[in-house]
Amino acid sequence: MADKVGSTRDGVYRSDANRSGLDYGTEAGLLGEPAAPIIDAHTHINGRAAAAIWARVADLYGIGRVYSMTRFPEVEAVQEVLGDRVRFLAFPDWSNPDAEAVHRDGYLSVIEAYRERFDARVVKFWAGPGLVDHAGGDPDDLIEFDSPWRVKQAELATELGMMFMVHIADPDTWFATRYADGAKYRTKAAQYVSFERMLERFSQPWIAAHMGGWPEDLDFLDGLLERHDNLYLDSSATKWVVRELSVQPRERVAAFFTRWRGRVLFGSDVVTMDAHLTAEVDGALSIKSEQASTEEGAFDLYASRYWALRTMFETYYEGESPIVDPDLAMVDPVRFGERDAPVLRGLGLGAAVLADLYCNTAIAVVERWCAQG
Ligand SMILES: [Zn+2]
Repeated sequence: MADKVGSTRDGVYRSDANRSGLDYGTEAGLLGEPAAPIIDAHTHINGRAAAAIWARVADLYGIGRVYSMTRFPEVEAVQEVLGDRVRFLAFPDWSNPDAEAVHRDGYLSVIEAYRERFDARVVKFWAGPGLVDHAGGDPDDLIEFDSPWRVKQAELATELGMMFMVHIADPDTWFATRYADGAKYRTKAAQYVSFERMLERFSQPWIAAHMGGWPEDLDFLDGLLERHDNLYLDSSATKWVVRELSVQPRERVAAFFTRWRGRVLFGSDVVTMDAHLTAEVDGALSIKSEQASTEEGAFDLYASRYWALRTMFETYYEGESPIVDPDLAMVDPVRFGERDAPVLRGLGLGAAVLADLYCNTAIAVVERWCAQG
């Protein structure tokens, strides 16, 4: 399989999601059926037309069920398009003009609404150093992960029979650049101290997104998973995870996924929206038109994430990722240009480990949780 991957490449840049002119439709066929039907535990599916394009990509790449953080006003449309295939997570309403309410009292009613109207069983917490800039007002009462507001939200989630997903930290590349002011943003390790207290305080399952926020440090993740039986990770944030897992020795990374089978879920962090299908929205240039502005562009954007993750997990591919990664130039502008990409190194995981990663763990943790009461 590995030698076939990438064989449709014509070398002609199409977009930031397809630097080398891959035919992602044909590529899906070359990868073949996954070891098990994939449950994508972490996406943001929005837009009726975009959801339909996502479904086409998902069919090609063997993605069955999807868990989505869909903006509240778009949930019904997405549900109409995807039917039983999609389940929804409660997540903060970033569009709330009252910025201070988003992660504080405003989130309580949002959690309740997702639970009552759309049967959401997972509450997503967004934390990490970015809150210093995005919390609205004085961020002091939100900085610690177990701050009173978040405990209140977690208690409500517990009452409503919900489990958790959390974004706890950002890439090391960001701590080296935009969060270089340590007094303001604190160290990466500091973000985890109060998170570990919450893991002990609330015993339901927690999914720490983006390889727990620390794909750069598998030794740290080993410790975190050893200390907390109720902690799971997802593989979402394709660019970040591909970049950082690919620079580490293949054997080390493969051993991690093998040791922690049953604790890591497949997630892509694919974001879809109708703004990807057009260059203009209401006469103004769409802010998302840079990512994609046509149906073909949106198809490539969504497919690129599944291509990269499946190629990394399943094959022995070794070559440049087809996805532009701006973090490279952000950290090292001398060595890297704006449209460069990191090496993607295949892990060649075995079928049984892949089946756990792709669906068994999600079934045991999330689907079972959703099925109760
Ligand atoms: Zn996400």
